[in-house]
Amino acid sequence: AAPNTEVGHLATSLNAMLAQIESAFDERNRTEERLRRFVADASHELRTPLATIRGHAELVHTGVAKSPDDIARVIGRIESESIRMASLVEDLLVLARLDTAPTLDTRPVDLLSIAVDAVTGAQVRHPGRRITVSNPTEPPWEDMPATALGDPGRLHQVLTNLLSNAVRYTPSDTEIEVCVGVQDGRVRVSVIDHGPGLKAGNESRVFERFFREDQGRGRATGGAGLGLAIASALVEKHGGTLAYLPTPGGGSTFEISLPAVEI
Ligand code: ADP
Repeated sequence: AAPNTEVGHLATSLNAMLAQIESAFDERNRTEERLRRFVADASHELRTPLATIRGHAELVHTGVAKSPDDIARVIGRIESESIRMASLVEDLLVLARLDTAPTLDTRPVDLLSIAVDAVTGAQVRHPGRRITVSNPTEPPWEDMPATALGDPGRLHQVLTNLLSNAVRYTPSDTEIEVCVGVQDGRVRVSVIDHGPGLKAGNESRVFERFFREDQGRGRATGGAGLGLAIASALVEKHGGTLAYLPTPGGGSTFEISLPAVEI
């Protein structure tokens, strides 16, 4: 019986090895597929403004746009499309860098002051919009500073991004709230809005690259669907999470959660 057992053992380990190799191949195929999709989506997104720029340049070149007014309009359009393209390229570069060697300049940072800064910036860009900041310290919140290890510039960028989404995707007469607090040893920063919220089923898809709930609306507001992908990748590089929760009563809440540190 001994040799048979040996053969049995051998077969079992061979099978285990084969399964491992197979899953490594599967993983590699999935990675390649993701990369292919990313390149295809990025090219598609870049081609659209490029086609508009080219078409408008042709209007001038062929004399279709002749009057100073027409030419001014065409140049304005070329300008705005190039700005869109530049910001898209910028986003793509940020994503590429995040995939390879991200350089985070981490130190203990106070999330409350970063939130106040980001909100001030948003208020300057969107005068008249009501954006408030709160810092609860009563139970269930812990009465301690909202300090986490992080790169202040990147965390500011994440919050600015969430705020700009809240401004763009909600009616201008609704309030936006930012809540910063510590709970269960984690610093939580939530951007709470009272807009339409996400459609059921899209809660995790919004963090995918190039995902837009409404292609038409995304176009009109100029987004390429990269903002939340960048924001969540940045928070994850910090060892934290970015999650979507529906706002009670309607709307979206995007919550950043980072391990709190004592200082
Ligand atoms: P973009 O804003 O460029 O489209 P994002 O990655 O920032 O890309 O957002 C992806 C999609 O998630 C948006 O197109 C929008 O449909 C949805 N979304 C994001 N934030 C909100 C929000 N605060 N309220 C409702 N929908 C939102």
